[in-house]
Amino acid sequence: MSQGEHIYLDYAATTPVDPEVAAAMAACLTAEGSFANPASIHGPGRAARALVERARAEVAAAVGAPAESVVFTSGATESNNLALKGFMRAHRKRGQHLITCKTEHKSVLDSAKALEREGCKVTWLTPGRDGRLDPAAVAAALRDDTVLVALMLVNNELGVVQPIAEVAALAHARGALLHVDAVQGLGKLPVALDALGADSISLSAHKCYGPKGIGALVVRRAPGVVLEAQMHGGGHERGLRSGTLATHQIVGFGAAARLAAARVAAESARLAAIRARLEQRLARIAGVHINCPAALSVPNIVSVSVEGVHGESLLADLDRFALSTGSACSAASPEPSYVLRALGLDDLTAAATLRISMGRGTDAQQIDDLADAVAATVARLRDLAPAA
Ligand code: PMP
Repeated sequence: MSQGEHIYLDYAATTPVDPEVAAAMAACLTAEGSFANPASIHGPGRAARALVERARAEVAAAVGAPAESVVFTSGATESNNLALKGFMRAHRKRGQHLITCKTEHKSVLDSAKALEREGCKVTWLTPGRDGRLDPAAVAAALRDDTVLVALMLVNNELGVVQPIAEVAALAHARGALLHVDAVQGLGKLPVALDALGADSISLSAHKCYGPKGIGALVVRRAPGVVLEAQMHGGGHERGLRSGTLATHQIVGFGAAARLAAARVAAESARLAAIRARLEQRLARIAGVHINCPAALSVPNIVSVSVEGVHGESLLADLDRFALSTGSACSAASPEPSYVLRALGLDDLTAAATLRISMGRGTDAQQIDDLADAVAATVARLRDLAPAA
């Protein structure tokens, strides 16, 4: 897919809404459609409610969970806040210890920091150079008062898939719960609540061809898996998340989740082949390093660091590709990515890092164009300022 002049390779940041999803959403907005409040008891309200419940079943089915386990939220940022604060606050009497990893999404890290300020003890684990967390590090960090382990399924910058099932077994053996941010996993690899062994998982529709502003926290229905609501009001979503349900968003999420689950096998195989081609081409360029090998990663995310060139010049040259970099621009100064730093990359290399994230609109030609452009720009930059 191209976006104007750009070749779009930033699907991990967000995806376009699938036309089938957009059509389903549009049917919930106007007077002719299911616009009524799904909490209303009259006929139009019940019709909207039926759509919401169908979408709930679709989201649940995409992760092999019962429909009642799905709590709709405004997105995964909210889901992660609800899981971390909700579990820690509900289990305060049992303990105050939380374990997480330095490369989690900011919505997990900053929720953990907020909990630290209210007295929780947080253990921040460091992954290996490839981004994978060693389950032994979790085993060593678990304590009798550990309430929760929060670990993502797929890292958004690196693509690395974490050993969730092993961590779940370790956490449960010590009486701790496991929350998994599975945002970058849905539609990229099979995601199943039971197979992961997770007590809760966060999902976000806009990462899998659904709309922005809608997500879910899927919470295992089992004794002891209780969390405290963070949003109070009308008691929607079994009291866990008050607020009028956004029928169009939820219906869009349901359709997107259904399509993602139906297409995951074929789409992942297609992208794995394109990724292999990209890696082969990049391997021909001296000083190019793939941060997480394909064997440990989802097929659609490739993190590439280029040695001996300036990040800014590299990016300026690759301007016609819409992709993410190893810097997160904060106000005036671009900060090197904390994820790359946690892997041990120095600031210069982190700045000269590209995150190429592929999706349904990506084809081999686009990837060949990118690989050629990277080769050309690296050669040009090294000619200008040969590495000492
Ligand atoms: N977790 C991960 C791994 C993500 O990539 C993102 C989106 N960048 C989020 C959480 C937050 O999701 P949302 O945009 O739905 O708040």
